[in-house]
Amino acid sequence: MQIVDYDQQVDALSAKSYVDQVFETVKKRNPHEPEFLQAVKEIFDSLVPVFEKHPIYKQQGILERIVEPDRIISFRVPWVDDSGKVQVNRGFRVQFSSAIGPYKGGLRFHPSVNASIIKFLGFEQIFKNSLTGQPIGGGKGGADFDPKGKSDGEIMRFCQSFMTELYRHIGPDLDVPAGDIGVGGREIGYLFGMYKRIRGSFEAGVLTGKGIGYGGSLTRTEATGYGTVYFVNEMLEAKGLTFENSRVVVSGSGNVSIYAMEKAAQFGGKVIACSDSNGYIVDENGINLETVKRIKEVERKRISEYVLHHPEAQYIEGCSGIWTVPCDIALPCATQNEIDEAAAKLLVTNGVKAIGEGANMPSTLEAIDVFLENEVLFGPGKAANAGGVAVSALEMAQNSARLAWTFEEVDQKLHSIMTNIYQTSMKAAEEYGCPGNLVVGANIAGFLKVADAMVAHGII
Ligand code: NDP
Repeated sequence: MQIVDYDQQVDALSAKSYVDQVFETVKKRNPHEPEFLQAVKEIFDSLVPVFEKHPIYKQQGILERIVEPDRIISFRVPWVDDSGKVQVNRGFRVQFSSAIGPYKGGLRFHPSVNASIIKFLGFEQIFKNSLTGQPIGGGKGGADFDPKGKSDGEIMRFCQSFMTELYRHIGPDLDVPAGDIGVGGREIGYLFGMYKRIRGSFEAGVLTGKGIGYGGSLTRTEATGYGTVYFVNEMLEAKGLTFENSRVVVSGSGNVSIYAMEKAAQFGGKVIACSDSNGYIVDENGINLETVKRIKEVERKRISEYVLHHPEAQYIEGCSGIWTVPCDIALPCATQNEIDEAAAKLLVTNGVKAIGEGANMPSTLEAIDVFLENEVLFGPGKAANAGGVAVSALEMAQNSARLAWTFEEVDQKLHSIMTNIYQTSMKAAEEYGCPGNLVVGANIAGFLKVADAMVAHGII
């Protein structure tokens, strides 16, 4: 194939219609994958100015290639529950892109997991990982397994069975999974133990989010939540605002939410509401984080228990109601599509000033439009929650070098990575004609580095 410098040539098909045409093909190929199509649409739409400026990417088929995973692995996960009954779940790993480094992305254990969810997460991960400035490609995995209500023994047997197949597809220089919804330190421990046993060697860099005693990095647990708040703080400061005395609402009460709440409070914000998949709590005195940590991290109970310890707080059934609570800053940190158009309009009416997506794709496309039209500061997940995977890459670096950095060292690196992601995204938005639009800026900045690597590698 002859490579031509298209910059000087008039392109027959406009950038917009080219991007739309590729999207139509993606739709035809993946008709039953709404979440994947949503993620692709958001990214494709923001890349139009890139294709206007650099037709070489079109000639090289970057869009057609980047949207097709290197491979998707789907497998049976059989295990025996405590009553002796055989259970079967479906496991996945999507290895999307290794253009700039080994596949990297978490594992999600949740009953809603299917190919569409894993592909949307894997696709987003390509651009997020590129934005971190670390040498990591994009991947994601998981299973439609529901950890809720399972005994410790059942969780262990499931993780062991899952790894019995996954091990052959991963490795420190090949594909490095981590946690996500339903997969925390306990699950990573069981997964690592089984990988180590099968392989017969201690390959610390094969998984991240490990315990500190066997190769984990300090600050990894806090990284996604802290990073989201560092990112939002950049957005606020640019407008002369701060977290100080603001009302903050954070959905979820898992890993990302807990540490977003902790850092928001350290920055002077008053966190007044959080949730789980059953309902939400409102505590106008400020959420007591020690109680939330005990309930969710230690006892693994429901957030409704909070009011037993703090009777002045309120518990309301139904998690989506959390967006009715008036706030200055909203941090959606639970799951995809938790803020729809109506919830976004309500947040705007109630005076929200900034949104920081701790979760992946928590706002629908319509909700994002509402925020942007109303000039609400909007930090998209790809940029705002990249701190988790960034520190995972730092964990890999420490494993390779066989050393361990202090909490402060890693936290400082995390903070400067988040500042850098903010600046890079703002710069790209400006350069490509959408000043201040971090959705466009993050997508373009993430894309360019991967696209250039793909051009360098040839058509593969
Ligand atoms: P956890 O499993 O630790 O916590 C998830 C929280 O969200 C829980 O409170 C859970 O409630 C709630 N939740 C899950 N599913 C739903 C649902 N369908 N409806 C309402 N609430 C729900 O997961 P994480 O905190 O790790 O992940 C949260 C989000 O952040 C996800 O979108 C994930 O992809 C994203 N993310 C995570 C990173 C990480 O480092 N962990 C990195 C980057 C992004 P319940 O307890 O009832 O299940």
